[in-house]
Amino acid sequence: MLIMLPERSEALEKALLGRIWRVGPQSIDHDQKDVIYVIKGKIPEEILSKLPAGSCNDYAGEAPLSSRAAMRDATKVKIGSAEFGGRKIVVCAGPCAVESRQQIMEAARSVKKSGASVLRGGAFKPRTSPYSFQGLGEEGLKLLRETSDETGIPVLTEATTTEQINIVAKYADAIQIGARNMQNFDLLRAAGRSGMPVVLKRGISATIEEWILAAEYILLEGNWNLILCERGIRTFETATRNVLDVSGLALVKSITHLPVIADPSHATGRRDLVAAASKAAIAAGADGLLIEVHPEPNAALSDGPQSLTPEEFEAAMGEISAVAKAVGRECP
Ligand code: PEP
Ligand code: MN
Repeated sequence: MLIMLPERSEALEKALLGRIWRVGPQSIDHDQKDVIYVIKGKIPEEILSKLPAGSCNDYAGEAPLSSRAAMRDATKVKIGSAEFGGRKIVVCAGPCAVESRQQIMEAARSVKKSGASVLRGGAFKPRTSPYSFQGLGEEGLKLLRETSDETGIPVLTEATTTEQINIVAKYADAIQIGARNMQNFDLLRAAGRSGMPVVLKRGISATIEEWILAAEYILLEGNWNLILCERGIRTFETATRNVLDVSGLALVKSITHLPVIADPSHATGRRDLVAAASKAAIAAGADGLLIEVHPEPNAALSDGPQSLTPEEFEAAMGEISAVAKAVGRECP
């Protein structure tokens, strides 16, 4: 598949024009990895003439790499052996922050037992207040790695600076870019260059367009292992921490080829609403969920009020599975 792009971006041209020479026209059209982007008018005639009919698409939109119009199939992204973007709903769960060996081990064992396939836990925490717990840093990453190796569940954790990308890549299976950093363009580029699976959260006040353009930064580095995460947006409403943008989630699912997951914990800020928000997201087409679970939420160093107990998580998974099945998806 050859996607013709109007000439408008030097960065895009530089990053993509060369690909046709590397891949070669004979291998075009196998699967989505062979999608090749070229700038209109710059592809040599001898290559164009060898392309099978119908394998050449014109694309005129602003987000060429994430657009579903430019890609035939939904992109599947793996974190460890968990695959996002297929029929299966993938649930990532664990504490907001890694606090101790015992805490993260207990969390991992319980969420895995209830059907989660990825463990979450922050080591570098982007806190609103500088006086709040900032995370254990590299020590937290080591604990995540140990826990993962011992329990056999892959780990997702946040990097908040470009310098942290390499260190997170050393210990974790996937990198989270948090809401506060959605438009930290150097960080997006560094996450792209890492080649690691990336979960890109929507910014607290970001429009869908801004979110998708942030995704383009990562894709432009040649990293297609990208999952989008709707985590609630700020509105006039203060009764909940944020507002889960369910229609936005459905929209992003339909206009991009990327897997989209939802974070009902940060969206609601209340553990009694997490199951309801999870079910709404799955019904709207989410490919997975990111849920905060803590062995002892009342003692949590961050986000305790929105963290589920292991028992509550187990019950929520039952409800989520029922909705998943009702909309033709599989969920453990
Ligand atoms: C988190 O996942 O703990 C977190 C800080 O999320 P967000 O960036 O969505 O606020
Ligand atoms: Mn949190």
